[in-house]
Amino acid sequence: MAKVNIPTFKLNNGLEIPALGYGTWLGLDEKAELKMQDAPKLVEAVAYAIDVGYRHIDTAHLYRVEPEIGHVVKQKIAEGVVRREDMFITTKVWQHYHREADVEKSVRASLKRLDMEYVDLVLMHWPMSISQDGVDEKIDYLETYRGLEAVLEKGLAKAIGVSNFNLEQMKRLVANCRVVPAANQIEVNLNLGQRELVDYCQSEGVMVVAFMPFGSMVAGQAAPGSPEPKIDNPTVVAIAKKHGKTVTQVALRNLYQRGIASIPKSLMKYRILENASIFDFELDEADVAKLAQFDNGYRTNVPSFWQEYSNYPFEKVADPMRGIPLSLREWKNGANQDID
Ligand code: NDP
Repeated sequence: MAKVNIPTFKLNNGLEIPALGYGTWLGLDEKAELKMQDAPKLVEAVAYAIDVGYRHIDTAHLYRVEPEIGHVVKQKIAEGVVRREDMFITTKVWQHYHREADVEKSVRASLKRLDMEYVDLVLMHWPMSISQDGVDEKIDYLETYRGLEAVLEKGLAKAIGVSNFNLEQMKRLVANCRVVPAANQIEVNLNLGQRELVDYCQSEGVMVVAFMPFGSMVAGQAAPGSPEPKIDNPTVVAIAKKHGKTVTQVALRNLYQRGIASIPKSLMKYRILENASIFDFELDEADVAKLAQFDNGYRTNVPSFWQEYSNYPFEKVADPMRGIPLSLREWKNGANQDID
């Protein structure tokens, strides 16, 4: 079996985080329901990812696949493929659990579902606090972060951080926390370079982890009218050809060379391997300059149904989506779902 050797970046607490991880969000269908039917494929995909050399898995309470992830990791440990300490597991606390005391409850429930004693990194998934009924709870994210600091102290996580925090929120958090966050997981890709936010995080020792590293480049994610580059963009194709790589590999390599970890998701084995095969070539200055021209601030992930809630981190749009999809508020516990 082919293998990849994925390098690591160092977090501000000395821990190593693999520079490329495996994302586990199955996505929503046309009815805005989680594509839970893909969970068996995900189980196979994660097993394959670990077999070929992935050691970093990104999940979340919201994703409803913590039991599946835990099961696969356990199986790979039993098979002697990895040890728990070789793996870097990230999970996240959802918006319903933003009161300081609830953070620990959420993390303990994630650990139970994962059947693990600790996670390597736990993130506040969003800066907003919204109840299952869609009520704006207006809890300061500084309070939620204190809950994460307590979780760290208790050893339930080896590192703590945030996700979807904008520059202003990051600065306020860094100025008011005891433990500087180890990471901010945000959307970064060729359209959304996030220069200012990335520079600030890196200057404070906060690792940037890129979700949606392909942005609107790949089919299925692109809204109509989304900007270039698409997967057949001639400029990126030429760069890819020059290095004997694919356009998606160029996109991931570009993030790596910026010191950003990324967590692409694929259920296809050949892509799982392809996405991690980016550590044997180097983009030169001219390539990087050409790629930077696509950075136009275009965001692929715009959850505008949250935009009137306190601490929404992005710019508001003129015609927001109405109503939070139910699948982002409540989910069924039980067989093959996210058991409590
Ligand atoms: P990605 O940018 O990883 O894109 C996933 C899509 O790209 C899938 O449709 C996949 O299809 C396709 N794809 C994967 N590899 C290739 C390839 N080599 N060539 C062509 N197409 C490819 O988006 P995600 O939204 O999944 O983001 C990645 C991860 O980031 C998530 O899984 C999740 O863990 C995390 N995330 C975090 C968020 C947060 O708020 N913190 C928000 C969104 C994501 P296929 O499966 O068929 O290969």
